[in-house]
Order: sequence, then structure tokens, then C-alpha cells
Amino acid sequence: MNINESNLGTSSFRPCVLSDFDDTAAHQNVAELLLKTFGDSSWETIRAQFRNGDLTLKDYQEIVFRNISVDIPTMQQHVRENASLRPYFGELAEYCCVNNFPMAIVSQGLDFYIEALIQGEGYSSIPIFAVNTSINEKGISYQYNYVRPGNESQGNSKGLIVNNYQKKGHTVYYIGDGRSDFEAALEADVVFAHSVLAEECQRKNIPFIPFRDFGDVLRTLQCNQSKYEMQSNTNNV
Ligand SMILES: [Mg+2]
Repeated sequence: MNINESNLGTSSFRPCVLSDFDDTAAHQNVAELLLKTFGDSSWETIRAQFRNGDLTLKDYQEIVFRNISVDIPTMQQHVRENASLRPYFGELAEYCCVNNFPMAIVSQGLDFYIEALIQGEGYSSIPIFAVNTSINEKGISYQYNYVRPGNESQGNSKGLIVNNYQKKGHTVYYIGDGRSDFEAALEADVVFAHSVLAEECQRKNIPFIPFRDFGDVLRTLQCNQSKYEMQSNTNNV
């Protein structure tokens, strides 16, 4: 697919890269990796309620992680030992860093398991927009700092985070795989999609680039950067 030239911006090439985490930045669905190991016996029944539409993603996630009895450091250790980043994540992060293009993780998942992998792999400077958790005497509690006003029951809004980067003048490249990414895909300037998100984009006629790994994103950014530089040079003649 050719990217619409108008998406590249006219005055400057200021892309930013926002990636979903579970099944996208991470090869695995890390939430489920943890639930399969540490979840109590009810978690799959509760997941079925979510899949049937009887629970929101927010409620499902809150319940099943509240039922886990091991502590967060134990879960983080499990993530570091069993999860991995999708190929070329590091190369893309390096390219973005060198060119001063923001790159961030945007997830409906929980901060501690995302940090375990992203920071564990050495990418501490990449911001993580996720559900913030804290532990108190009642156990785990959840904070939603990126809610679209009026939509509190849905938890964080990925589309809101896309919009925030666009307001700062960025062309947003968004990468995702799931139903929760569709809201962001509707807002983003360039969409990379796989799995359920790709099917949904196809059904709803949302243009997207098929995603296999972060090499696809890196090549597209490099290609668009050189196109933009050629345009700028032509305009300056
Ligand atoms: Mg995902």
C-alpha cells in the first residue's frame, strides 16, 4: 500500500511511533502468559465472559489480576525469563532515538509486566502508556490516567494518546493487533496491523500496512524520510 503523501505533513517530517504491547511489541500475549502460570482457577471462565461481551476488557483484567496471589516481582521475573520482543524492535528504537522521533508503548495492559520486558531489555527511555498499578493493604489497585472524558468505563483510550501526539505536530505511526487497537487505528496517520486488527481494518476500509515485525515499520519510516528530504530539497531550489 502506498502511504498518502498528505499524511507525511507539509512543513516538517515529525513522525512518532506508537506500538501496542501484548502480541505486538512482545511476541507473546504477556498478560495471558502470566495468567496461565499464576492465575487462579476462575480466570478462563472470566475471560469467556469478556469474550462473550459480558465484561469489559477493563473489568476482566482487574478481576483476574486481583485474584493472583504471587507478588509483582515474581511475575516480572517470569516475564523477563519467558517473554521476548518482536524482531527489529531495537533497531527501530535506535533509529527513532538518532532522529529524535518519539517512540512509545500504548497498551491496555498493566504497567509492571510491560516495564519488566521493555526495561529488562534495556529500553528504559521509551515511555509506557498503560494501566498504572499500585499495591496497598487491599492488594492491587488500578489507575487510569489516559481516559477520554465521558468514556471512563472503558479505561484508558489509545485514541486519546494518538491525538495527544498529533496535537504536538506528529504524524502518528500506530502498530497493533487487537480489537482494543481499533480506536487508535481510526485516529492514526499510518497504521500497521496484524491479526484481528488487520481483519477489522479490512472490514471497515481503514488503510493499513501488514505488520510482521518492526523491520516493516523501520523500512517505511526510512523510505518516507528520504521522500520528504527529496521534497524539501526540491522546494528549496
Ligand atoms: Mg495486543
